[in-house]
Amino acid sequence: MLKSFIRDKYIQVKGNTGSKESGQEMIVCPDCGKKIKRADVVVNNYICTSCGSYFRVRTRNRIRMVCDRNTFVPWFEEMETSNPLNFPGYEEKLRETREKTGLSEGITVGQGEIFGEKLCLGVCDSID
Ligand SMILES: [Zn+2]
Repeated sequence: MLKSFIRDKYIQVKGNTGSKESGQEMIVCPDCGKKIKRADVVVNNYICTSCGSYFRVRTRNRIRMVCDRNTFVPWFEEMETSNPLNFPGYEEKLRETREKTGLSEGITVGQGEIFGEKLCLGVCDSID
């Protein structure tokens, strides 16, 4: 049941993301180095079909995999960031990371549903 549930979610991911998720794109496993069709990795829950290593799952994909379609509503998107400990270069790192990830924060928090049950969800993301 879980596998079919995730495959249903995969179809949803494929339909929402355009050519990059068309299934023809090849990606390289960071562990075994083999080239694998992205679609095969996604169907296999972001696990390498050759060696079994895990690929990074970006925040939006994780939310699509977990939540019922179009139920996730992010919270705190307008929250201001501060640097109370005065880390050098923090603002520049924050700007670069936001550009690379397309996210405003390292964790996305919000409300969604799984099989119709409401929940709060937090998903961490980072860049490589
Ligand atoms: Zn591999």
